[in-house]
Amino acid sequence: MTREERARAITTICGKCGCNDEQRARHYKLFVDENWNVHPSKRFQAWWQEHPDFKVSLEDGKGISAITAQNTMYIWQEYLEAKEIGLA
Ligand SMILES: [Zn+2]
Repeated sequence: MTREERARAITTICGKCGCNDEQRARHYKLFVDENWNVHPSKRFQAWWQEHPDFKVSLEDGKGISAITAQNTMYIWQEYLEAKEIGLA
């Protein structure tokens, strides 16, 4: 995604999520400048809840959040591949 595409995307996503102005400003900066998305989709969250790494992480007590998982490159790549073959 280009910077402009990320800017448009996060504006839309924050709108759907009902973020206030302060949150929008923070989420915009994180997504556009740092490529960190704080709004994982419901589809990603559902996929992540069933992921073996998530289940293992729960054994430590708190589990890896969907936000952290989505922003972790190898997990995100795995998700995209799973989506492509209809497993997510
Ligand atoms: Zn937001």
